[in-house]
Amino acid sequence: MTIFRKIIDKSIPARIVFEDEHCLAFHDIQPKAPIHILVIPKREIRSLADLETTDKELLGHLMLRTAEIAEAQGLKLDGYRVVTNIGRNGGQSVNHLHFHILGGRAMQWPPG
Ligand code: 5GP
Repeated sequence: MTIFRKIIDKSIPARIVFEDEHCLAFHDIQPKAPIHILVIPKREIRSLADLETTDKELLGHLMLRTAEIAEAQGLKLDGYRVVTNIGRNGGQSVNHLHFHILGGRAMQWPPG
């Protein structure tokens, strides 16, 4: 179990911006941009690398909600970045699939 399960269960607090049957979105506790939101499935999936063919619909749902949440945060006009880190070299620190929405400033490329 990860800390994100506790956020889903509301046993620890988070600044939730969106929730439906399949996903939850909340502000990152250590924001790396003026707007930094995490979008997670409620079902525990370790990372993008652990998705299965049967998760197609869930993944599509997560991506659509991610874009809607970014738009609701006012990020569509100037753009934003969506990132998912996978494993040690990817810099993943919480082993529950999540998409970072980063916005409110210009991003660098390539990422460090
Ligand atoms: P990762 O490094 O796995 O890609 O991203 C995990 C993210 O979760 C980090 O940006 C980290 O700041 C955030 N995070 C870790 N613990 C908590 C928490 O308890 N609450 C919230 N809101 N974010 C967290």
